[in-house]
Amino acid sequence: MFIAYSLIIILAFSIFGLLIMNNYKDMRIKNVRVRLFQTANIVADTYKANMEDIVSAKFMVKSYGQQSDSRILIIDIDGNVLIDNHNTFVGQTLDNHEIREGLGGRSSSSIYTMNGEEVLHISVPITKTDGLETRIIGAVLISSSMSSLNQDIGELRDGMFKIAISALIVSLALAAILANRITEPLRILSHGVARLSSGDLGFSIEKGGEDEIGQLIQSFNDMSHKLHSIEHNRKVFINSISHELRTPLTSIRALIDSLLIDDSPPSVYREYMKDIYGETERMEGLVHYLTTSIKLEDIVLDLKTHDINEILQDAIDFMNPYAKKMGVEIQFAGTGPSMVECDRSRIKEVLFNLIDNSIKYRDARETNSYVLVESKALEDHILIDIEDNGLGIDKDDIPNIFEGGFRVLDRTILKTNGVKGYGIGLAIVKNILDKHNWAISVESSLGLGSRFTITIPI
Ligand code: ADP
Repeated sequence: MFIAYSLIIILAFSIFGLLIMNNYKDMRIKNVRVRLFQTANIVADTYKANMEDIVSAKFMVKSYGQQSDSRILIIDIDGNVLIDNHNTFVGQTLDNHEIREGLGGRSSSSIYTMNGEEVLHISVPITKTDGLETRIIGAVLISSSMSSLNQDIGELRDGMFKIAISALIVSLALAAILANRITEPLRILSHGVARLSSGDLGFSIEKGGEDEIGQLIQSFNDMSHKLHSIEHNRKVFINSISHELRTPLTSIRALIDSLLIDDSPPSVYREYMKDIYGETERMEGLVHYLTTSIKLEDIVLDLKTHDINEILQDAIDFMNPYAKKMGVEIQFAGTGPSMVECDRSRIKEVLFNLIDNSIKYRDARETNSYVLVESKALEDHILIDIEDNGLGIDKDDIPNIFEGGFRVLDRTILKTNGVKGYGIGLAIVKNILDKHNWAISVESSLGLGSRFTITIPI
């Protein structure tokens, strides 16, 4: 690539230089030609006026020849040289294109190469007017060597060549530095892509600057870290799922093993089968959790501005008939509209889950079961509390309840006498709130009740 750029630069320089040189030479020749034509016309006019005085005519030709650094011949109508400022051709008859043109009444000029040297020939006719008649009596031929002009041009060409070479070296060096500056980060980037595709997730490239390539490197690093954390989460996920699956499978296997060892009475079979049934339910719960969380991974929120109090009221209205049936009273305390950006149906799902839990885990001995839903708009956030006077949660279980915790499900649900659940509701709640960048926390004491608090930043 760099070689191609260099060749283009060299070619451009050469063409440019050649054009300038040619134009300059043409211009210089034109100037000389104009000057010599002027001299020739003056010589012709002066000769015509002093034809009879051959001595002063010769003197005049000599002096113009010196002035213009050229050879001047005066030729009569038959082609005989009458005056030559170098004296060598006097008396000789000459014939060439310029002389014929001049004697034919036309001015003309040509460049010839003689003994390897360029010579400019120009000729003008000498005319004489007698009364009305004008006749040609001869011609002025001027020959001027172009060697000094060519020498000038040669020197200029050498100067230009030196400048061009220096400019070329500088521009090639600049192009090389520039090309390297552009391709170096791209090379590093492609090395990074190769590392990433070979499985080195999380590999990052040192950021060079704030330009487009710097931004590209930043995006690459972000992507690499994201891939790394996805991979890490996947491993943790698979690890914990296999762990969770292994527990019920080991129990089922142990139960079946002990049934196979000896002939147990039907009552023992029934007892063991119940346990096996319990374990399969646990596995069913796990699979349900898996499919739900995979679906949640893909959700795209439909974010719009809503009044959170209106959503709370909607959710309460929906849950009220069920709550009444279960003997639980839902109370609502919220003031004025509190506008938030959220996916309305997902947030309703969150509220259904939390209110449903408060109803589900009510204390059966409590005569006055209630769920209090309250929203408070503070300076830079809104708080939503869902409080109940139900069974409460063991403080050891609290850290796990948002994790899709099957162990919580084991201990709590079995204690609460057959309340069905898979231990995934709160995991879904957390997931949806995380996607909104909202937080959830819980305070609870066994036998007293629980308060779930959602914090919405505004
Ligand atoms: P599920 O209700 O399907 O079991 P959740 O994820 O909704 O699953 O809840 C996880 C666990 O947290 C429940 O099994 C229960 O032990 C406990 N829990 C949640 N909400 C409450 C509540 N309001 N009162 C008492 N315990 C609760």
